[in-house]
Amino acid sequence: MKTITTDFEYLPATTVEEALEMLSQHKDDDYKIIAGGQSLNTAMKHRLIAPEYIIDIKGLTDLDYINFDEKEGLKIGALATHRSLEKSAIVREKYSILCEMEENVASVETRNWGTVAGDLCNADPAVDPGPPLIALDAKLKIASKGEEKTVDAEEFALDFFETAVQPGEMVTEIQIPALPPNTGAYFTKYSQIHGDYALASAAVLITLDKKKEACANARIGLGGVGSTPLRARKAEEVLKGKKITEALLAEAAEVAKTEINPISGIEGSADYKRELAGTLLKRVGKVALERAQKA
Ligand SMILES: Cc1cc2nc3c(=O)[nH]c(=O)nc-3n(C[C@H](O)[C@H](O)[C@H](O)COP(=O)(O)OP(=O)(O)OC[C@H]3O[C@@H](n4cnc5c(N)ncnc54)[C@H](O)[C@@H]3O)c2cc1C
Repeated sequence: MKTITTDFEYLPATTVEEALEMLSQHKDDDYKIIAGGQSLNTAMKHRLIAPEYIIDIKGLTDLDYINFDEKEGLKIGALATHRSLEKSAIVREKYSILCEMEENVASVETRNWGTVAGDLCNADPAVDPGPPLIALDAKLKIASKGEEKTVDAEEFALDFFETAVQPGEMVTEIQIPALPPNTGAYFTKYSQIHGDYALASAAVLITLDKKKEACANARIGLGGVGSTPLRARKAEEVLKGKKITEALLAEAAEVAKTEINPISGIEGSADYKRELAGTLLKRVGKVALERAQKA
């Protein structure tokens, strides 16, 4: 049996350059980045992982920001916490879906320490920010020493607890485009205990045409119903170009149910989660539509 040692070398970084240098030096070693530590500490405490090096990025205050620009949209630095997103006045004004999502992430204590980027990097399939970021067409900026790349939110998580972040890389920013006129978005999740991970969650973004009659664009993100948060592309196609009604949303929900792959667990069967996702999609789509009509 492999002996798990709890010893590790602690490497605190104070600048992005320093962190990227450390990542470059240790990219072939068994290391882990720590930000707020809310998921990492739990995994270490339960001996699920025992990294030899811990690269601490909590001191990268340069990445602790939430900036909005009408042209560029919203930029969330990798050290921005759930709580700062929840409490941001500009986010509430421009992207209320994100504040509403944050209100039900874990506890206030966890939201105070936990970063949004760290939550995404932990890559739980039911991660709350996943579906809204897919609906909002977000991208994640990933940096390594001397290089940068961006990945679409729906391609960031690759599998259970696995992401597009490769050894030597770290997420530095989440980018969300400015929303076009006549756009509404909403998210909800269902969990058995308030603030717990979702059994299923749904985010819908709807953009109506100039006359506010037909759907010009739709984006749907679903959580907890596959190995990663998913984009329901076929369901989006059901809505595009048509006048959205409750019947059309029900049709889209039926299609979405064929695009997901929930697994059974003690908290619910796969069939239950599939039904739940469809129900949430219908409800969320209705609110997104109302918001688009008022926008
Ligand atoms: C009791 C409890 C309940 C929770 N409930 C929910 C919930 O309902 N919904 C939800 O969405 N989340 C929930 N969470 C998860 C929580 O939101 C995350 O633990 C937290 O946001 C992770 O951020 P962190 O900064 O603490 O990351 P850390 O714990 O420090 O890191 C998490 C992982 O991400 C990696 N990492 C961190 N930052 C970066 C980066 N910039 N680049 C690359 N890799 C990075 C780390 O190496 C590690 O693998 C819950 C957590 C707890 C403890």
